[in-house]
Amino acid sequence: MKIICIGRNYADHAKEMKSEVPKEPVVFMKPDTALLPKRNPFFLPDYSNDVHHELELVVRINRVGKSIEEQFAHRYYDEVSAGIDFTARDIQKECKEKGLPWERAKAFDGSAPVGNFITLPKGKDIQDLKLSMTKNGEVVQSGSTKDMIFTVDQLISYVSQFITLKIGDLLFTGTPAGVGPVAIGDTLECFLEERSLLKVNVK
Ligand code: MG
Repeated sequence: MKIICIGRNYADHAKEMKSEVPKEPVVFMKPDTALLPKRNPFFLPDYSNDVHHELELVVRINRVGKSIEEQFAHRYYDEVSAGIDFTARDIQKECKEKGLPWERAKAFDGSAPVGNFITLPKGKDIQDLKLSMTKNGEVVQSGSTKDMIFTVDQLISYVSQFITLKIGDLLFTGTPAGVGPVAIGDTLECFLEERSLLKVNVK
């Protein structure tokens, strides 16, 4: 399986990063070793002093597809969860300045915790889901998939032009505003429609 991630998919996050709102989706990937095994703590990598949490809606692909048309994209998933795109912000900044790829900042071991998947309720619009994250019990990120720049279906259509999607692939769909640093001892909890789907202790 592979983990496909979208950067800057919420205007308020692009703004907090002082980045342009993209005209096309920003795509990058994480390896399967970025998945954090369930109930394992997240160990801060020692080569970064500024690891940030990015709360994201995660979509699990359930059919093989290539060059999927947007109108058919909804047939390629039926389960969603919340995940964290952990980002070594200091290293990402360095990569951006040098025009280098982001893997060192984004693809390290454990950088992609994913919560329990839930079936998208019938009639529930994937573009109308509330997601939020608490850090040590206080809300630090909260948003709605209504505010995505590119919808899930547009992302699936876009990405599948270049990359064949396979069963079990995960799509991280970008973070709303409110990203921030994590420290040893922090507990992060991620909610989708007020349901707690993921809890991560930082060590
Ligand atoms: Mg992200």
